[in-house]
Amino acid sequence: MTTTSTRAWAALAADRPLEPFTLTRRECGPLDVQLDILFSGICHSDIHQARGEWGASTFPMVPGHEIIGRVSAVGAKVTRFAVGDLAGVGCMVDSCRTCGSCAHGDEQFCETGVAWTYNGTEMDRKTPTQGGYSTRVVVAEHFTLKVPAGLDLASAAPLLCAGVTTWSPLKQWNCKKGDRVGVVGLGGLGHMAVKLAAAMGAEVTVLSTSRGKEVDAKRLGAANFEVTSERATFKKLARRFDLIIDTVSAEHDLNAYLGTLRPYGAMVLVGVPPKPAPVAAFSLIGGNRRLAGSSIGNIRETQDVLDFCAANKLGADVEVVPAAKINEAYERMLKNDVRYRFVIDASTF
Ligand code: NAP
Ligand code: ZN
Ligand code: ZN
Repeated sequence: MTTTSTRAWAALAADRPLEPFTLTRRECGPLDVQLDILFSGICHSDIHQARGEWGASTFPMVPGHEIIGRVSAVGAKVTRFAVGDLAGVGCMVDSCRTCGSCAHGDEQFCETGVAWTYNGTEMDRKTPTQGGYSTRVVVAEHFTLKVPAGLDLASAAPLLCAGVTTWSPLKQWNCKKGDRVGVVGLGGLGHMAVKLAAAMGAEVTVLSTSRGKEVDAKRLGAANFEVTSERATFKKLARRFDLIIDTVSAEHDLNAYLGTLRPYGAMVLVGVPPKPAPVAAFSLIGGNRRLAGSSIGNIRETQDVLDFCAANKLGADVEVVPAAKINEAYERMLKNDVRYRFVIDASTF
């Protein structure tokens, strides 16, 4: 198979900063779409994986799964995309398409293992996948998303992960007008959770460790803002929420947040702290509370959140950075200093 040489930035080891790198992409197969990348978001999952915090990581690793680009080639059997179209790629680039989960449209739960956009392999289980911190990507058509007209392209990139990862649990738990929704952590995922839940009519409360984010939280659509470093906050919020979306990337006490759920309320974990967190049985038993998780979202949900954001004039609040600032962006995210998603301008790779 012929390949094309592609400029990128990669982590060569878990303890090394990212650096310029050249990778090879396959030529467009009959069912593939090739994108020339315009913008690539920086997700905290990129940091976790580039630093080997979730167990085995494969190096060299080109992270990035919030990709917006322009179609530069299509395979002979591609029907939904043409050269020149805008398109997006999220966390998945392929799956088996035949197992029960795939047939049900939940590609992320493919029983043979989905092909993640990076730090994984293609479905041949040999060829490593490489992500969006690069100038070009080749993806199966089924995993290529339409970018509706009217979206700002840099602000749309984070919808491919941060957007769908918060959209999916809001939909799964039937978020609706008047619901009291708590969003824990105001970073990339958290700020999208606020925008989406507010647009669905919920009364949103941000639970943050950063007092300085209050004005932003209200501007993003939150009705209330609470600082979690004060114990009194949890007393005040006891039995408040119908639904909590927990986006926190580091260790925190789940029991304290569970106490802010009303009876039968649900707290959904989307953040992935590297260490397990203890949960007391009584935190759940009192009030029949539910603790759940949610993994990104399927391809249909990814298209839905793009369409919803176009219709409601929503997008991420982004700080566009050149490739040379990726490592600095990582450090700033680790200090909770992101307002609210870094997006890399792909012309700088
Ligand atoms: P981010 O932009 O860095 O935001 C994380 C936020 O969590 C921070 O801004 C901060 O908000 C809060 N936080 C950080 N450390 C904290 C601590 N020790 N205690 C309490 N709050 C803390 O990260 P992100 O890109 O939104 O990603 C968040 C998490 O979701 C990551 O673990 C990522 O891997 C995971 N993720 C999961 C999925 C999925 O499919 N489930 C998909 C994408 C990402 P405040 O300043 O407001 O406190
Ligand atoms: Zn992500
Ligand atoms: Zn499958």
